[in-house]
This record gives sequence, C-alpha cells and structure tokens, in this order.
Amino acid sequence: MLFCTVINCIDGRVQLPVISYLQKRFNVKYVDSITEAGSNLILSERKNTVSIQSILERLRISIENHNSVGVAIVGHHDCAGNPAPQDDQIMHIQKAIQLLRQQYKSIEIIGLWVDNNWKVHEVIEN
Ligand SMILES: [Zn+2]
Repeated sequence: MLFCTVINCIDGRVQLPVISYLQKRFNVKYVDSITEAGSNLILSERKNTVSIQSILERLRISIENHNSVGVAIVGHHDCAGNPAPQDDQIMHIQKAIQLLRQQYKSIEIIGLWVDNNWKVHEVIEN
C-alpha cells in the first residue's frame, strides 16, 4: 500500500483532478487528504497558528503512519479561501513548500496549480 499526501482546498471541484494527478505523479494507490479553505494562503501567511498546527499534525500522521512518499500543496482558480490571482497564489504555494521543508527534509514536496479548466499543473520552483 503506497500513500502520498495532499494539502488541498476544501473546494469539491479540485479533489478528483488532484487525486488523479498525484496517483500518477507519485505512483501511489492512495492520496491522504488534508483540506482547509485556501490552505496555500494559510501556510504562506503563517498567521493562523491553530490551523497550521492542525495541518502539520495531520501531515505527521500521514507521513508516520502511512509512510507517505510525497507531499503536494495546492492552489486553484476561483478559490473562495484564497481569492488572490494566480501569480500571487503561486508565491503562496512556494512559501508553503518552504515551511513544510523546514519540518520534513527528506520527503519530496511539490506544488500544484489547478487552472480554470480544472487541469493540474506542477509549480516550477524558482
Ligand atoms: Zn479553494
């Protein structure tokens, strides 16, 4: 049984496209899902410490108990929780990746952008 982990938005429109993408990307059967409205904004702002601790605790369970092989952080078009334009949201994803890498140095952590056609793109890091 192989797992990866996604930190996604609650938005129902992005769940299936992201899961399908990650099953192929990490060659896994199961994708553990951690959802918050605008999770990329929460992790980049680093203000809402209660939400961040909750996300990190769920991530820890996925990594330790399911031996998750990779983590993805998602931003998407028309997000109610993070209404910022795409360019800003990509920055939020990059900052979120940096925060997660401070916690987990050996696991692969990637960013995903879901566009207005609900197509998934991997965020290129700068
Ligand atoms: Zn959203």
